[in-house]
Parts: sequence; structure tokens; C-alpha cells
Amino acid sequence: MSHFSEQIQIWYHNNRRDLPWRETKNPYHIWLSEVILQQTRVQQGIDYYNKFVHAFEDIKTLSNASEQEVLNLWQGLGYYSRGRNLHKAAKMVVHEFQNQFPRIFDDIRKLPGVGNYTAAAIASFAYNLPHAVVDGNVYRVLSRYFNADEFIDTPQGQKYYQALADELLDRQNPANHNQAIMELGALVCTPKIPNCQNCPLGDTCEAKSKKTWSELPRKKGKIKVRARQLNYFVSINKQNVLLQKRGEKDIWANMFEFPLVEGDEIDSQILKNVRFLKTLNHKLTHQNLTVNFYAVDNVDEISINHSAEWISLDALKDYPLPRVIERFLAEEYELISR
Ligand code: SF4
Repeated sequence: MSHFSEQIQIWYHNNRRDLPWRETKNPYHIWLSEVILQQTRVQQGIDYYNKFVHAFEDIKTLSNASEQEVLNLWQGLGYYSRGRNLHKAAKMVVHEFQNQFPRIFDDIRKLPGVGNYTAAAIASFAYNLPHAVVDGNVYRVLSRYFNADEFIDTPQGQKYYQALADELLDRQNPANHNQAIMELGALVCTPKIPNCQNCPLGDTCEAKSKKTWSELPRKKGKIKVRARQLNYFVSINKQNVLLQKRGEKDIWANMFEFPLVEGDEIDSQILKNVRFLKTLNHKLTHQNLTVNFYAVDNVDEISINHSAEWISLDALKDYPLPRVIERFLAEEYELISR
């Protein structure tokens, strides 16, 4: 075992957080936790993990649920394609892997929504297979420990860090090694101010001795953010609300929203028959949304192209809604509390 691996595993043994998915070797549970945690803070992830394990006791139950049920439970976590992929992957396990969660890296990697990191995490945590994980925490620890200036967002840089991680992996105990390096990145080698004084790698870390940690890891390019304006037309009475299902191809695919006109020019005929309510700003990874809400008293008086249906307010909780619409309903009408 390398000095690196030995140090982080001793530290992990004494400092690890107790998290529900660390108590199991069940690949279904580990997979659920990994998909939930992909873009989510651990504290929030615990609640969702418990909700999913409780609602879908095994992968077959998950595969038998409707996509709407899955998205509904996913609501609030964002990045809804993860929820949809979770459901697709459950169906794939049931139909193509005879209801057995795949046991080797290449098969796990075939599941929708599972990339190299997630496949390595499941393969090592559930089956103790020697695959090194590389996620944001691992990039940070490795680039600092070796004072490596390779970019973490280029294919070449990613290959470099994966090779480094493979080399350091404790092949006798990959699950523990992987957990340890990720936990170190999450708790000690943190993005803004790492706790180098209490780091088990402090004696041999290059970024610590050269004081370069604040510049590492390096990224080549920032993502471009697109601005969009969404105008929603809200028809709501004591019993019902008018909602339509979104298409497959855009953000919030298959979720429900009010009738919509996108863009910064709205037909003046429409504007005559509606009342402005409020604007909410909403940020997604690649998009900054300005979302305007207008009240419509008589839907027939405005001609907007929509395929909306009246949905009873009592049934609203069964419909997956984008976060911004949920926020609007809560602020404006005190509706929706899940
Ligand atoms: S010594 Fe500091 S910079 Fe180096 S790995 Fe530890 S926390 Fe990170």
C-alpha cells in the first residue's frame, strides 16, 4: 500500500461521517445514493435517499413506478434528467440484466446516468472491485498533493488524474481507499481554505509546502450561461389550476408548468387581458432564467398555443413541478408543501 493510501485510510477510520449508504453493500442502495449525490449536498441527499429507499424497496419496485411518481419524489433536487435516468436504469436492470444489479464495471457503466465516476464508486463500494473513483473532491486532493497543474476539465487532464488515482489505489481495499480520499476532499482539503494543519497528507503535500493550494485544481474554461425569459400565464381558482406538460427536449422535461410564452416580446393582445403578478429569477447551471408570472382571469380571451388541462388543487402534489413554479405557488397562493 502506498504511503498516501495508508495515511488517508488511517485518517478515514478515525474521522469518517456516519452516512446511511456507508452501512450497506447493497448495490441498489449504493447506486441510489450516488445518483442522488451527483449534484447535491450530503445533508439534503440523506433525506432524498431515505425517501427513495422507503418508497421503492428494490429496483423492481422502482422500475414498476411511473416516471411521474419518480420525478415527483425527485422534486426539489434539480437536474431532473438524473431522476429520469434513474427510472430508465431501473427498467434496464430488470429487463436486460434479469433483475440483478450488474456486477462488473463495464455493465454498470451501461446504465443511463452512470458515468465513469459512478460506475467506479458502485463497483468498489458494493463489490470491492479495484476501480479508482475520481470526482471533484478527488481532483482537488490529487492536484494539490502533487502540485499538478493539468486542467481538470479537459479530456487530457481527466486522463492524467484518472491514471494517478489508479496508481495510488489500494487494490486490496479499494472501497475503503475510495471513501477515504473523497472524505478527505470533503472535510479537510476543502475548496476555499483547506485544513492543512490537520491533514494526514500534510508532511508530503506539495501544494502545502509551495503554498499553491489556492490556485489548484486548475480549470481551462468556464461554462457559458444563456439568458432566457419565460412568461407564464396563471389560471387558478379555488379548486383547479391550468397546467401543461413540458416536452422531452428542454430543461424540466416532462414536468408540469402553466401555459407559457417564451421570449421578451409578448403579443400586445395577450397583455391587454392579463395582470402582471411577479418576476422570479432562477439560476440553472447553464441558464439564467427570468420568469414572469401573469394572472389570467378568462383563458378564452387570450390566444396562446397551449395544451393545458385543469388539474385539481388537491391533486397538485402528484405533479412534478419545476422549483421556480413551486416557489411561485408557495409565495403567491401558499400552495404546495411537500
Ligand atoms: S496538506 Fe492541505 S492542500 Fe495538501 S492535501 Fe492536505 S489539505 Fe490539501
